Amino acid sequence: MTSSDNSAALGIPLDEDFPEIRESVRRICADYPGAYWRQLDEESAYPSAFVQAMTDAGFLAALIPEEYGGAGLPLRAAGVILEEVHASGGSAGAAHAQMYTMGTVLRHGSPEQKYQYLPEIAAGRLRLQAFGVTEPTTGTDTTKLKTRAVRDGDSYVVNGQKIWTSRALYSDLMMLLARTTPVDQVKRKTDGLSVFLVDMRQAVGNGMTIRPIKAMVNHNTTEVFFDNLRIPASSLIGEEGKGFRYILDGMNAERILVSHESIGDAKWFTRTSVKYANERRVFDRPIGQNQGIQFPIAKAYAQMLAAELMLRKAAAMFQAGRPCGEEANLSKLLSAEAAWEAGEACMQTHGGFAYAREYDIERKWREARVQRTAPVSTNLILAYVAEHVLGLPRSY
Ligand SMILES: Cc1cc2nc3c(=O)[nH]c(=O)nc-3n(C[C@H](O)[C@H](O)[C@H](O)COP(=O)(O)OP(=O)(O)OC[C@H]3O[C@@H](n4cnc5c(N)ncnc54)[C@H](O)[C@@H]3O)c2cc1C
Repeated sequence: MTSSDNSAALGIPLDEDFPEIRESVRRICADYPGAYWRQLDEESAYPSAFVQAMTDAGFLAALIPEEYGGAGLPLRAAGVILEEVHASGGSAGAAHAQMYTMGTVLRHGSPEQKYQYLPEIAAGRLRLQAFGVTEPTTGTDTTKLKTRAVRDGDSYVVNGQKIWTSRALYSDLMMLLARTTPVDQVKRKTDGLSVFLVDMRQAVGNGMTIRPIKAMVNHNTTEVFFDNLRIPASSLIGEEGKGFRYILDGMNAERILVSHESIGDAKWFTRTSVKYANERRVFDRPIGQNQGIQFPIAKAYAQMLAAELMLRKAAAMFQAGRPCGEEANLSKLLSAEAAWEAGEACMQTHGGFAYAREYDIERKWREARVQRTAPVSTNLILAYVAEHVLGLPRSY
């Protein structure tokens, strides 16, 4: 019996899965080493060449069903793609949104919308990379968002503002959440929000203005202003007023996907720490011989493996169509924390050299930190677990 036979019998993963996909992503990433990402970081530029290579290889269409020209792969396979990008030292943040926002079109879009957009996205002719939910004044309290879309004949007229809309300058389409019925006219505050697929090629300059935000990480993130932007009524996805539920439907997939990025970061940090701790000699011995250096690395490694197990469980439950809110949220929490601990160990192991940009450690450290805040903050995950899993009173 092979080890994978054992794995199946025991019901727990023993081996690295999707080895061909991993190998193929690693080959692409080898063409985009640290120097590539460092330069982009310095110039706040978008990794167009890398995104094109990933598109050409079909990886960004991993989750689009075959009938629409995609690869029709399971969620775990898509996650493995993101993990490998991060484990190689790169960042998938430039392109990952397409993987999960596409799901809203797939699940709730009309047949016309699916046939109009999904094959174009799968072929890389259209980019669906912008996801406009967060607003400056309401933050995590999503149902209070103020951007309004008002029906006017065959159009909706949009007014308001989004913040932290990543990749908006490098996307053709934006998935937008806006209020269509004022909050005082709905039974539940989660009603009256709607999702639109906005064609940004027509919107920019005609009511949509995008302004880049200078940020700690090169996430190509922006503020987006809507000033009487007129969009066709056919941009509405699904039923008017049900948008919040549609966004919630996609959240488990989003959390599972981005957790893979943290696992990739943790692997990169640990590999980098171990190599340096073995090579660097101070006091006539490798620094890795000191328990003060090796224990934090070993501890972060253990945390990463535990987070990875939870993640594989979440992905398996998602694939089986089972409710997985708890597992997806816990994966997000544990993997972001594991990456952070591995990053801390890597910083400390490298001493002063951790601060030298050419080592890539401070860049990866900044990037890994994002996962503790976005797309959902650690506190909000803990609040979810406390309320929905443990049955404690709602805290907000
Ligand atoms: C690099 C980056 C990229 C992003 N990309 C996108 C994007 O593409 N699209 C998009 O829509 N958004 C995006 N975001 C926004 C991100 O999802 C939000 O920043 C995040 O959800 C937190 O919202 P906030 O910043 O408004 O914080 P706030 O809601 O103001 O919260 C501030 C702090 O208070 C805590 N807090 C708030 N309420 C509670 C409570 N009830 N209990 C306990 N703690 C609480 C939060 O956890 C947080 O730590 C991005 C953010 C970053 C940094």
